[in-house]
Amino acid sequence: MRKIVYLDMDGTIFDLYGQDGWLEKLRAEDAEVFGGDRRIITEETLRIFFPSDEYDVRVLSMTPLNASKEYCDKVIEKKNEWLDKFFPSITKRIYRAYGHNKNLKNSENAILVDDSEPIRNSWRGKAINPAELWGWFFYAPRQLVPANDRKLYHISPPNVKWFFDFILILFLKIPKFWVDFSFENAII
Ligand SMILES: [Mg+2]
Repeated sequence: MRKIVYLDMDGTIFDLYGQDGWLEKLRAEDAEVFGGDRRIITEETLRIFFPSDEYDVRVLSMTPLNASKEYCDKVIEKKNEWLDKFFPSITKRIYRAYGHNKNLKNSENAILVDDSEPIRNSWRGKAINPAELWGWFFYAPRQLVPANDRKLYHISPPNVKWFFDFILILFLKIPKFWVDFSFENAII
């Protein structure tokens, strides 16, 4: 039997917090904030982590905090459109009202991938921070939102691991760059 994976959208596969004025747009009930090619990862990348023959990936997302019923319906429509376009292989989608708990009947045996720490902590099964899957260095700049907004939306604060990843990348990438660079120059 395939293992069930519940995948969050905002801040996990959809770059909501990386766009200018996202919080103002949410408060103004602008549904366009959930549109556009704002993929944090592609469907192909997702399938490297969770191949279809081993994992049954489903979306488990929330509607915005303190929003009207009309806006929540519009947001769900927009999120479905976005998934149809960029993650068409995920056809099972669950949308819940904003809160800190996403547990479902089968949580114990399912994996949750979610950027929210309180949601991960309350999950009864295995919960994974997307930054640890997709990579901190790549993911971290998208999470640099003002502390108050971060608190409101339970986005993980900057982590010391980012620094170590940065150092690691410097060591791995920069010498390679210099080797390539001098080699090209030597040929010229
Ligand atoms: Mg999220």
